[in-house]
Amino acid sequence: MSTEYQKKFFTTFNEPLSRHTTFKIGGPARVFAVPSDKEELKKILSLSRKDSIPYYILGNGSNLLVSDRGVDGIVIKLDGLFKHFDFRKNLLIAGGGIELASLRREACKKGLSGLEFTVGIPGTLGGAITMNAGADFSDNIGKLVKRVEIMDKCGRVKWLSHKEIDFGYRCTSIEKGSIILKAELKLKSASPVSIKKRTDSIWRKRKRSQPMREKSAGSIFKNPAKIGTDSEGVCPFFAAGFLIEKAGLKGKSCGKAYISPVHANFIVNRGNASAKDVMKLIEETKKEVFKQFGIKLKLEIRIWK
Ligand SMILES: Cc1cc2nc3c(=O)[nH]c(=O)nc-3n(C[C@H](O)[C@H](O)[C@H](O)COP(=O)(O)OP(=O)(O)OC[C@H]3O[C@@H](n4cnc5c(N)ncnc54)[C@H](O)[C@@H]3O)c2cc1C
Repeated sequence: MSTEYQKKFFTTFNEPLSRHTTFKIGGPARVFAVPSDKEELKKILSLSRKDSIPYYILGNGSNLLVSDRGVDGIVIKLDGLFKHFDFRKNLLIAGGGIELASLRREACKKGLSGLEFTVGIPGTLGGAITMNAGADFSDNIGKLVKRVEIMDKCGRVKWLSHKEIDFGYRCTSIEKGSIILKAELKLKSASPVSIKKRTDSIWRKRKRSQPMREKSAGSIFKNPAKIGTDSEGVCPFFAAGFLIEKAGLKGKSCGKAYISPVHANFIVNRGNASAKDVMKLIEETKKEVFKQFGIKLKLEIRIWK
């Protein structure tokens, strides 16, 4: 099996996934494949089917907690042509493997607005679309998407238009196992100066309120939806971080994993925290928030066991 994989595309075995996640946590991937184009990707999927080995798509690993045992499967990281991008008037056409930060910078230079809210989101375009990454409850990547090109698990390629995709709160209706190859984003003309001003202001706000320099996977939990009405009939909204902080959990630790004192919905790895430490902290947080407020927190991050 090894030679067959090695012959076909750049592949390594037992690659530590801690090198590929922003948490810097995660055991080895049995196979780590880096396809450069659709043909290579298709071959990987067909080997996965032939050998009955599951595959996992990795973006920048910024929304992932990978188990300490790693992944007994093929981890696929898009490279080469999947990192290309181009502008056609107000349309940005980009590969699923390119980082949002590069797209945001290039769009700004072209005088195209829309991606400013992504400043500080360390993901790829494919990961951002999968998660419908967003900020401040109003902006999300789904709003910009015109259409998305995907490859399904059998290697078939097709385009999905915006209206064929449901963009939810940190999720989409794109079928599990489908790989986002490319997307077209609709941007708006604006002056680079105003785009930069808005980006800088969002960035400053993030730096004040989130532990941007520490190893994390961003928000651990989704913000709970409506939780009932108060005495005046108003439906209050509580962010997950607010609930965790009110539960007195800021700074709580498990091994080297800490609930960030800066933002309670972030768990940070201060050294060599294990996935087990993080999971324990997650479970204890859920338990305490439920005990104090009767609210069940749900995970925003994805877990690879
Ligand atoms: C400091 C920090 C701040 C953050 N702030 C925010 C924020 O403000 N808003 C927000 O929404 N998120 C935020 N995040 C979380 C994260 O950056 C986003 O969810 C990001 O979009 C994930 O992209 P990724 O490429 O890292 O995906 P990964 O973490 O690698 O993967 C996430 C999921 O997407 C899948 N996936 C990745 N690429 C593809 C593809 N091409 N095709 C199909 N599936 C794919 C993976 O299999 C996995 O299920 C933050 C994270 C950090 C560390």
